[in-house]
Amino acid sequence: MSDTRSGFVVIVGRPNVGKSTLVNAMVGEKVSITSTRPQTTRSVIRGVLTRSTVDGMAQAVLVDTPGLHKPRTALGQRTNAMIDRSLSEADVVVAVLAADEPVGPGDRRVADRAGRAGPPVVCVVNKCDVASPDTVAERLIEASEWDFDAYVPVSALTADGVTIVIDEITARLPAGPLYFAEGEISDQAERAIVAEIVREKFLDRLHDELPHSLVVIVEDMSERPNGTLYVEARVVVERDSQRGIVIGKGGGLLRTAGAEARAELEARMSTPIYLDLRVTVAKDWQQRPDLLDRFGFGAG
Ligand code: GDP
Ligand code: MG
Repeated sequence: MSDTRSGFVVIVGRPNVGKSTLVNAMVGEKVSITSTRPQTTRSVIRGVLTRSTVDGMAQAVLVDTPGLHKPRTALGQRTNAMIDRSLSEADVVVAVLAADEPVGPGDRRVADRAGRAGPPVVCVVNKCDVASPDTVAERLIEASEWDFDAYVPVSALTADGVTIVIDEITARLPAGPLYFAEGEISDQAERAIVAEIVREKFLDRLHDELPHSLVVIVEDMSERPNGTLYVEARVVVERDSQRGIVIGKGGGLLRTAGAEARAELEARMSTPIYLDLRVTVAKDWQQRPDLLDRFGFGAG
């Protein structure tokens, strides 16, 4: 057997610089939710990139993060703490800037955390398609003060330069096993996006009432003979009282959020979907390592 290298690659940057678009461009399929509104990436979604290299195989597990922001609110502080945790577990960090805007305090906060985290940092200057070469050069010079391990100007939108980012990441991955088998990859990515879309619909309706207590696990996704994609998803909350909130009066919230999720999934996946949603209480799942692993908050 030839050598394998692998690792977790954590993408950080302030909101709206194009982190999710970059993850999608690297993986070559839509796994991460992008939006013109900042802060739409609520939870970490992983894309997996497997490459053959001169000496074997390399696999990068891409961890998208919500934008780091000014820690003004409790939610903001928790989000930042979650990002710090991801950073400390990373093998490679990708710090993203936007070429079309000057480096600001938000970018400095990101650069500071990325630099302090320990792993090598690849700095990506994104959105070069909407900035002049002079502006791009200016941004690269501004960012060079951080002394990161590599600097790559790209356009995540047109995919220009994205293979160079992949090369720079791959070159820095430590020796390690392939976490995902080849066939598993798209399935994992697909389940992650389905779970994220369903979760987003509940959080929208709940006005962020339970953001840290509610997770969605896709238990089954299989195509039925009539062409319908059957999706069985479990909405997991921590307490009995939260179960009632998620179901809503007369089942109203569960129905509405479910219908919205189904509509978006059908639009994205271009296939009729039967969405089977169940609500489960897993007492204090945030305190239980076995459940944290299962829900994707594992140490990797
Ligand atoms: P995130 O908040 O950092 O994850 O940013 P998103 O990936 O959601 O992107 C925010 C917005 O910037 C979206 O409207 C993207 O289409 C846009 N965007 C991302 N990358 C590029 C790029 O390379 N060029 C241009 N012109 N727009 C981009
Ligand atoms: Mg995002």
